Amino acid sequence: MAVTQKAQRIPLIAGNWKLNLDHLQSIAFVQKLAWTLQDARLDFRKVEVAVFPPFTDLRSVQSLIAADHFPIVFGAQDISEHDSGAYTGEVSGAFLKALDCSYVLVGHSERRTYHHETNEQVGAKAAAAIRHGVVPIICVGETAEDLEARGASAVPVEQLTVALEQLPDGAGADVVVAYEPVWAIGSGQAATPEQAESVAIQLRAVLADALGPEAADRTRILYGGSVKSGNIASFLREPNVDGALVGGASLVVDEFAKIARFQSHVGV
Ligand code: PEP
Repeated sequence: MAVTQKAQRIPLIAGNWKLNLDHLQSIAFVQKLAWTLQDARLDFRKVEVAVFPPFTDLRSVQSLIAADHFPIVFGAQDISEHDSGAYTGEVSGAFLKALDCSYVLVGHSERRTYHHETNEQVGAKAAAAIRHGVVPIICVGETAEDLEARGASAVPVEQLTVALEQLPDGAGADVVVAYEPVWAIGSGQAATPEQAESVAIQLRAVLADALGPEAADRTRILYGGSVKSGNIASFLREPNVDGALVGGASLVVDEFAKIARFQSHVGV
């Protein structure tokens, strides 16, 4: 994939808070993050910064960002594949859109593991997001056992292929893909930038088959798994890696702000 195409994709630095920070803590966090990035003169035309709080924080985060015109966007950590009905505990795409969510994570490995989400369900959730104008971030990645048995790319390619098959009108769809090796999540052991690039190339080929070459070229592919301020630049140097999905390090304002400022790191 040519470097000029990468230059047209605005990098996305996304912080997945998981089950951390209540709605009051979310206000303090987003305020401090915005002030830190503004003080550092981050050029928000060159990087998009997103946070993914728990559902109960979304209204507070929305109100704060809108009131103070902070150039930060936000999304949810999950979405129902259904639009309404008897689905206790679920949150629909329409509800997320009404709260101005730009993005929603689908298929995070923790949801696949603890909630047994299948590739088909992940695709149905992505379809629900698209139906309501919310961009799904489709998370894929191999376990340590998958890596050993089938190499790095086989499972992520399969997961993305099946998920994209569930989009009723896939052509040209607006999605983001996050490649997150499960063994790298929260382990302190990130994949190498070369592995991330090699899998990203194959995921982009899947996108081209399913959505068409133009959509594939403009789709951002993120790397996730033990990203820190010390390694972010090495991933973003790769031609097919267009950002990062950050877990643990997204809960520390100064560290997350440093990750968002990866373009100011030497050599990027
Ligand atoms: C994640 O949960 O998506 C993640 C990448 O976590 P961490 O950055 O902590 O490895």
